[in-house]
Amino acid sequence: MRPQILFPLFGEVGELKGVGPNFAKLIAKAAGPRVVDLLWHLPAGILDWSRRVSLAEVVGGEPVTLKVMVVEHSPPRISRLPYKIRASDETGFIDLVFFKARADYLQRTFPVGQIRFVSGRVEKFQDRPQMAHPERALTPEAFETTPAIEPVYPTTERLPARVLARAVAQAVAKAPVLPEWQDEAWLKKRRWQGWHGAVGNLHAPKSASDLDVNAPERQRLAYDELLANQLALVLARARLRRVKGRALNGDGRLRARAIAALPFELTNSQRAALNEIDQDLAAPQRMLRLLQGDVGAGKTVVAFLAMLTAVECGCQGALMAPTEVLVRQHGQSLTALAEATGVSLGILTGRERGRDRDAVLSRLQDGTLDILVGTHSLISEDVLFHDLGVAVIDEQHRFGVHQRLALSSKAGEPADILVMTATPIPRTLALTAYGDMDMTRLTEKPAGRKAIATRALPLARLDEVTDAVGRAIGANERVFWVCPLVEENEELDVTAAEKRFAILDAEFPSRVRLLHGRMKGAEKDAAIEDFRAGRAAILVATTVIEVGVDVPDATVIVIEHAERFGLAQLHQLRGRVGRGVRPSSCILLYQSPLGETARARLDCLRHTEDGFVIAEEDLRLRGAGELLGERQSGMPLFRLADLAAHGELIAAARDDARLILARDPDLKSPRGEALRVLLYLFEQDEAVRTLRSG
Ligand code: ADP
Ligand code: MG
Repeated sequence: MRPQILFPLFGEVGELKGVGPNFAKLIAKAAGPRVVDLLWHLPAGILDWSRRVSLAEVVGGEPVTLKVMVVEHSPPRISRLPYKIRASDETGFIDLVFFKARADYLQRTFPVGQIRFVSGRVEKFQDRPQMAHPERALTPEAFETTPAIEPVYPTTERLPARVLARAVAQAVAKAPVLPEWQDEAWLKKRRWQGWHGAVGNLHAPKSASDLDVNAPERQRLAYDELLANQLALVLARARLRRVKGRALNGDGRLRARAIAALPFELTNSQRAALNEIDQDLAAPQRMLRLLQGDVGAGKTVVAFLAMLTAVECGCQGALMAPTEVLVRQHGQSLTALAEATGVSLGILTGRERGRDRDAVLSRLQDGTLDILVGTHSLISEDVLFHDLGVAVIDEQHRFGVHQRLALSSKAGEPADILVMTATPIPRTLALTAYGDMDMTRLTEKPAGRKAIATRALPLARLDEVTDAVGRAIGANERVFWVCPLVEENEELDVTAAEKRFAILDAEFPSRVRLLHGRMKGAEKDAAIEDFRAGRAAILVATTVIEVGVDVPDATVIVIEHAERFGLAQLHQLRGRVGRGVRPSSCILLYQSPLGETARARLDCLRHTEDGFVIAEEDLRLRGAGELLGERQSGMPLFRLADLAAHGELIAAARDDARLILARDPDLKSPRGEALRVLLYLFEQDEAVRTLRSG
C-alpha cells in the first residue's frame, strides 16, 4: 500500500483551491489528473519582473515593475470601452487599462491613495503611457514576499496560465519532506540537494538557466525517476528468475538437420546469438533475452533454431507475432524448414476457427505439435501447451509487457523467453525499456546484401517517379508503394491508399495490388501472394507492410509523404527491399517545404543503413517518448528524465539499482524503506508488491 506520507500528492487536482471541475479537466489534460502530476509538470519558461523603473524611464514593450500610487478610477461610460485606473509615481502618470473588467474587483484591488506594485508591459496610447491588464498587482507586503521571477508552464487551450501556475504552486506546497533514498556520498559528489528542496527549486527558477535539462535540481529528480524505473526492472527480473526455470540441453540433432536444410550459411552474428541463447537454455534459470537486429538481419531463423532445442528436449516452442500477415509469412518460411527437419508446426490466428482450430489445439495439448506460430491468440485461455519450453515473441514493441508474461507462463512451468525486435533501440532506451533482459544484437547483415540507393524527391516530381516505376517493372522488378499516415486515422489512410491504387492501376493495368489493414485476411493473403509470385508488380500498401512483409524479389520502395513518417519507421519500411541479390532503391517522396527535423530525418536515411546509428539519431531528433509508441509498448513515459540528455544518469541508475538490490534484496534497511517510498512516488507499486516482505 502507498505510504501515508504520499497521500497528499495522490489527491485529485480538483481538490486544489481555485480548481473547479472545469479547470480540473483542463489541468488533467495539460499535466495530469493528480497533484503529483503537477509536481512533474515542468516550467517551459520564466517571466522576469525584476526590472524596476520609474515612469519617466519607461521604454515601451519590455516587462517591468512599477511602484505607483492609485489616483483615480474611471469606469467606462459604455461597456465596449475599457475601465481605466490612473496611477502615478514621482516622475509621471500611467493608465492601468482593463477590458471587460469587474468594477467591484478593481475597486478592491486598487483602492485610491494606496501604493501598488504593478508588473506588465507599458505601451504609449495617444502619447500617454498605459499598461493593459497588469500581469500582477501587489501590495507592498505581498511584494516583499513574492519572487520577481515566475515560472511559466505549458498549458492547454482555455486553461489560463495563471490558474495552472497557482495549482502547481499548491502542489509544491503540499510536497512533504521525504526520507532520503539516494546515497549521501553520491548526492555530495553530484552536489544535489534533497528531494523536497529540489522540487521547490525546480518550480522557483531564478533564471532561465535553471530550466536547463542539466540544471542540478532537474538532474536530481530525473535520477530519482530513473532509479525508480531501474529498481522496478531489476525487481521484475528477480521475480521472473525466482520461479526456477529448467535446463534445456539439446543434443543438436534437429538443429543440425535444420542448418543443413538452410539455403544459406548462418552469419557470424547469428552464430554468436545462438551461442548465447544456448547458454541461457542450458542454465537452470529462466532465459529472458532480447534479440535486437535490423530488418532483414535474420532473426526468424535464430528463433526457429532456438525452438528446436526445446523440441530436442521433448518440449514445445511457440512464436508469437503481432500481425496475421507476419504469422502467415513465418508460417510459410518455417513450414518448409520444419518439414525438412522433421518437426511439426502449426499456425494459430484469429482466422483459424472450428475444426481446424480444434485440431491444432488438441495436438498442442497432447504434445504431438512441436512448434506453434501465431498472433496474440496464442495467449487465449483455451490454448494449452503440453509442455512449452521456449516462447519467442517477435516484434516485441507491439505487445504489452503483460502479454509477454502471459505467453511465457502458458505452460505449467514457465518457459524460456526470447524477445525479438527489429526496431533497433538506442542503448539508453533499451536500458529503461528492457533493463530486465539480457541483450543480444545481430549487427551483421546476411552476406550478399547490396546497399539500398536512397533518394529524396519532392512530390512535385511524382510523374518522374511513376515513369521510373514503369521502367522498373518493365525490367521485371517489383515495387512497394507505401501510402502515408493521415492523422493516425486508419480510414483516411485507406482512402489515400485506394486513391493511389486507382491511379497506378490505370497506368499499369492488372499489375497493381492493394494491401491495407481493413482488408479481410484472405484478401490480404491474395494480394501479398500475387506480389510475391510476380503476378503483380506493384503493391500499394499502408504501413501494414512495415512489420516484416518479406518479398525478397522486391527491389524498389516508394514512400509517399515520407516527411510524415518517423525515422525508425522509414528505416523499417526501407528494409522491405534490399533483401535479395539485386540492387535496390528507395524513393522518399516529400511535400515541400520540408521542416528542419524532417529534412534531418531524410538526410540521415540517405547517409546510413545502420539501424543502430539511425536509432540514436532518432532519439536525438525527437526524444524518447515517441520512439516506440508508448501506449502499445508499455514503454515508460518519463516525466523528468530526458533520455537524450541523461544517458549517463541512466547507466548510473542501472548500476545503482543492481547494487542496492544485491545488498538489500528486500529493501529492509533504512535506505531500503526510503526507496520503497521512491517506488510508490513514481507509481511502481507493482514492483513493491513483488518484494517478499512487501
Ligand atoms: P528479420 O530479422 O527482419 O526478421 P528475417 O528473419 O525475416 O529477418 O530474414 C530476412 C531474410 O533473410 C529471409 O528471407 C531469410 O531467409 C534470410 N536470411 C536469414 N539469415 C540469412 C543468412 N545467414 N544468409 C542469407 N540469408 C539469410
Ligand atoms: Mg522478422
